[in-house]
This record gives sequence, C-alpha cells and structure tokens, in this order.
Amino acid sequence: MNGLPHPDLLPPAGEHPEGHKGDAAAARCPGRVNLLDFDLKGLTDYFESIGEKPFRAKQVLRWLHQYGAENFEQMTDLAKGLRAKLAEVAEIRPPKLIAEQASEDGTRKFLLEVGPGNRVETVFIPEDTRGTLCVSTQVGCALECSFCSTGRQGFNRNLSVAEIIGQLWWANKALGRDPKGERIISNVVLMGMGEPLLNFDNTVTAISIMLDDHAYGLSRRRVTVSTSGVVPAMDRLAAQMPVALALSLHAPNDALRDELVPINRKYPLAVLLAACRRYLTVAPRDFITMEYVMLDGVNDRPEHAKQLIELVRDVPCKFNLIPFNPFPNSGYRRSPPDAVRRFTALLAAAGIVTTTRKTRGDDIDAACGQLAGEVEDKTRRTLKRIDIGQEAA
Ligand code: SAH
Ligand code: SF4
Repeated sequence: MNGLPHPDLLPPAGEHPEGHKGDAAAARCPGRVNLLDFDLKGLTDYFESIGEKPFRAKQVLRWLHQYGAENFEQMTDLAKGLRAKLAEVAEIRPPKLIAEQASEDGTRKFLLEVGPGNRVETVFIPEDTRGTLCVSTQVGCALECSFCSTGRQGFNRNLSVAEIIGQLWWANKALGRDPKGERIISNVVLMGMGEPLLNFDNTVTAISIMLDDHAYGLSRRRVTVSTSGVVPAMDRLAAQMPVALALSLHAPNDALRDELVPINRKYPLAVLLAACRRYLTVAPRDFITMEYVMLDGVNDRPEHAKQLIELVRDVPCKFNLIPFNPFPNSGYRRSPPDAVRRFTALLAAAGIVTTTRKTRGDDIDAACGQLAGEVEDKTRRTLKRIDIGQEAA
C-alpha cells in the first residue's frame, strides 16, 4: 500500500448529515453529543435525557457498531422525527482515518488523527485461528519504560471513548466478516500506545462496548488489557470489568525492574504479584500472561530465568517473550535467538508455558513498541522527569 487512505474505508461522499463531503471524522460539531462516546448504559441514559424511549439505545448501538452507520439517515428503523432530532443534537464522530497500510505478512495498520499534531496507530494481526486488533488508549505514555519508543516520546493526553472504540469501528469496517459470517476481528488487545489503566474510565467504557452483544459481542477472554502494573487500577478492573490480563513484567527483580519499568518504584514486585493473585480470583482465564521483552545482556541471562521461576511460583501464568523492537538511540539490542531458546527452555523445564511472540508487520513499523504515531509531548520530557507517583494516583 502507498499509505494513502483506502477508498473503501472512507465514508461515501455526501452521506454525513452536515454534508462534510463524506469526512465524518472532520465534522466537529461543538455542543453535539458524540454517540460513539457511549456504551449501552450511557446511551440509555442519554436517550432518557432527551425524552426518548430508553430501548432505542440498543437499536442505535447496533447501528453504530454492527453496521458502522455514519449518519442517522442510515438508521432506517428509527422514526423519521427521531432521526431528524438526533441529527440536531448528536453526531457520530470517529477519529479521522488518514492512512492504512498492509504488510506482506497480512498485518494491517490504521493511522488515525486525534486532533492537531496527534496520531495513533491501530494494528490488525491475522493468525490461523484468530484475528487480533491492537488498540491504543493514550496519545503517548507518561510511564517512561526505558525500552519503549512510546515512553520516550512523552505523554499528551488520554484518548476519549470514541477515539478508543473508533479504532475497532474503523478496522471492523475495513475487515468485515469472513465467508462464514464470522467477524475477522476475534480478539482485541489493549497493547498499543499508552497505559490503559491510567485512562481507566474511558478504557472500561470502551471495553463495555467491545463486550456488548448489541455492539461487537466479544467475550471477556478475548479482550486483553496489558498493563505495566498500576496496582490500584488492577483491583478496580477486577471489580468492574475483569477481562484477560497481560502484565508487562520484563524483569525478575526490583533493582532491574526499577530501571526498565519505572512504575515499579511505586508498586514493587511483591505488591504487583499479590495484585495478580487477587486478579486471578475473578479473571476469565486461569492464568495471567507475563510479557517479557528480551534485551540482550540485560534481562535475558539464565540467572534471570531462574529468578523468574521463583518469583512467579504462586501466580499461575504463561510467559510471552517479546523480541525487542529497536528504535533510534534506544541503547538496547534484541537478544540473540540462542539466548531466547535457552531462556524458554529454563522456564519450560519449570513447567511454565512459554511462547515467543513472532515479530509481525516489521516492514510497516507495526511491531510492539514501534507504534510511534505522532505525539505532541505535554510532559516536556527533556526538561523534567515526571513524578510517577502523581501520574499513577
Ligand atoms: N502500557 C501497556 C500497554 C502498551 S505497551 C504496557 O506497558 O503493558 C505493549 C507491550 O509492548 C508491553 O508489554 C511493552 O512492554 C511492549 N514493548 C514496548 N516497547 C517495546 C519494544 N521496543 N520492543 C518490544 N516490546 C515493547
Ligand atoms: Fe507506557 Fe507501556 Fe511503553 Fe511503558 S511499555 S512506556 S507503560 S506504553
């Protein structure tokens, strides 16, 4: 692909209620309520607040997410009067899709603009038995993990619900269903840009839309939140929306994790693993996925594997070893295949299921930690270090 918008992805010209030449995303209508910001409960409350029957919410949610409606005229089973009223007070405003790229291995990347100077990327990864969409939750990230290019770019802002679910909305429109009528996107991982648990409310509302049978109907085990370990928010997620959990562990001891994943200074390993055990009592899967980026000579030695085995003794988990994806001036190198094999063998010998993530979409910079997007950094990272304590509160 040439990086230009795929014609099939753009709304048909002239279909937007305001006649914005088919560019639904560009149509920012101040004062109007964006219906893509609502889950079923929010939409039900909204309909009540404008004097409409609450059951309309289910109907509209289906139009928005199952049929990808871009304007109210398309909602043909709503009375004309209601459609006209909605066009007055509400809007359907996904983020603006500015480019789509396809990799040779089938990976597809969607570039979305979320306000001037800010872009996020969404990546679809097809596999034999599933199709996974990797979704972003923030523009940039405040947590400064030392090996992550998003962390290096700084933090700008949280994505809104519409901007998070809008990634699935666009990708679902582009990918659709297979010949048997099954959705091509069968799984969602919140592993793109940002720390989902530091944008908690919007992330949970977006997940509620992913799970809703009137919208995307995904099961809890097919939606995975990846966190660097924001412990209080892990407990809130367990209470409100216990989907599958992946933990970015990356180090077997506090000294090393403090360096690689600085939020560890606030929530050290003992506290973090206790939170994992609590999470497992409500999780939809009976294990937690431990993500572990393999950094040559840093965290990939046999003694690190041995420490890990001790560390997770009481926490049912699987390990996913991630080949480090280099970026300019990262200061790290990818572990050589031998080191990865040796590490895998040690964990496996201790009975821990261990997989190595295949790097996908390398040719279009769609691999983990390469989701650079474009971030207008509000933390002025080069001038001051952020106070993680504050960010994580
Ligand atoms: N903030 C969340 C989710 C986004 S990061 C988290 O940290 O879990 C998604 C995954 O990509 C994390 O496991 C993260 O550690 C990993 N990652 C970040 N930079 C990477 C890089 N350069 N190479 C490989 N994996 C990386
Ligand atoms: Fe943020 Fe995750 Fe990157 Fe750490 S790895 S800086 S938490 S996006």
